Amino acid sequence: MDKEYDVIVVGAGPGGSTAARYAAMGGAKTLLIEKRQEIGTHVRCGEGLARGLLDQAKIPIDRTWIAAEMDGARVISPGGFTFEVDEAKAGNEVGYVIERDLFDRALAKLAGEAGAHIYIKTAARSIIKENGKIVGLKIISQGEPMEVRCKIIIGADGYESQVGRWAGIDTNLAESDIMTCVQYRLTNIEVDPKYTEFYAGSSAPGGYIWIFPKSANTANVGLGLGAHIVKEGGDPKRYLDAWIAKNPKMKNAQQLDMIAGGCSINAPLDSVVCDQVMLVGDAARMIDPMTGGGIAHACLSGMEAGKVAAEAIKLGDYSKEFFQKYEKAWRSELEEKLFRNWMAKEKAMTLSDETFDTLISLLDKVGMDNISVINILKALHEHHPELLKEFEDLL
Ligand SMILES: Cc1cc2nc3c(=O)[nH]c(=O)nc-3n(C[C@H](O)[C@H](O)[C@H](O)COP(=O)(O)OP(=O)(O)OC[C@H]3O[C@@H](n4cnc5c(N)ncnc54)[C@H](O)[C@@H]3O)c2cc1C
Repeated sequence: MDKEYDVIVVGAGPGGSTAARYAAMGGAKTLLIEKRQEIGTHVRCGEGLARGLLDQAKIPIDRTWIAAEMDGARVISPGGFTFEVDEAKAGNEVGYVIERDLFDRALAKLAGEAGAHIYIKTAARSIIKENGKIVGLKIISQGEPMEVRCKIIIGADGYESQVGRWAGIDTNLAESDIMTCVQYRLTNIEVDPKYTEFYAGSSAPGGYIWIFPKSANTANVGLGLGAHIVKEGGDPKRYLDAWIAKNPKMKNAQQLDMIAGGCSINAPLDSVVCDQVMLVGDAARMIDPMTGGGIAHACLSGMEAGKVAAEAIKLGDYSKEFFQKYEKAWRSELEEKLFRNWMAKEKAMTLSDETFDTLISLLDKVGMDNISVINILKALHEHHPELLKEFEDLL
């Protein structure tokens, strides 16, 4: 590893690898560090990815990381009403279930091919400042403490990000803006291999249950619970176990693995940059608060941050003011949707099982050409105005 770089990217998840790729492509001398000894493992993800978002984030499709291609998605209410969104209706919103470890490695490979230096088992420990200015990072690389100097740091260190905290960027979350998740990979279950499924209501208060098929009898079956619901550490698992136990299609289920983790479901942050530092992906709290999807947003923001970093290096300007270019770029793509979906999530958290039943059976009857939160709300407005009263501010 060299002693000095233009840009150091902390974390080789989808956001970090994409940021490093674009910074290196733009001519910046770039270092990508990953604290784990293998990029992509251990997977903490449902592995669902919408096709349109892949295009938006300019991620080249590589069949090696596609586990299954979906024809559609189903949203199922507590009373069993189903709203089906197939490819004809949702187009690019339908997508893939991926092999996340291979996906992350493919993105890191693209960063390496673009010229970024990649070091695994290398953790950032703190920011080094001289005269109030950031000059580099203290790291531990494969057991050895080191100092590496740089002009720009891109924090891509995920949900538990420290880079933001070290730099003084406010990334704190309210309890209601956190979802606590648990997921099993289950085999020996009856699953529709072409449809993802989402279950709303009191089985998963403040969140939902998902089934993302990996093959004809195997799926990622997970649950997210609003953090304000969780009283004890094992609560998400208890909710998921209870739901699986009641599901006849899972009566012979066998577990292949289990993961747990948190994810942010907040409104967009006021700022994700400061002098010399930009945050991307989960570190910048960019997960979609309604769907819990964050892979593509991490890639998209990584791409924009990488481009701006390379430009900043060329111009010798690493200021917060210059980084407004990055703020503008990611906000123009994501901010409106993130904010609207955060408001929708806030409402969804308050709905009774009966209201979910009414909403989902109505959506099934109405149908729509282009599924989106805004279109769903418009349809409700038209067909069930009395129910929509409390949702009007979302329109
Ligand atoms: C249970 C669960 C299910 C999910 N399911 C989906 C889904 O189906 N679809 C979807 O789109 N999204 C899903 N998400 C969200 C998705 O996983 C994230 O949004 C995505 O991983 C964000 O990418 P990222 O690059 O920002 O962060 P991460 O993928 O979290 O990458 C951060 C990287 O930084 C490394 N790191 C951290 N600290 C340091 C340090 N100090 N030094 C060096 N390296 C460091 C970490 O090891 C990690 O590799 C899910 C999340 C959870 C918790």
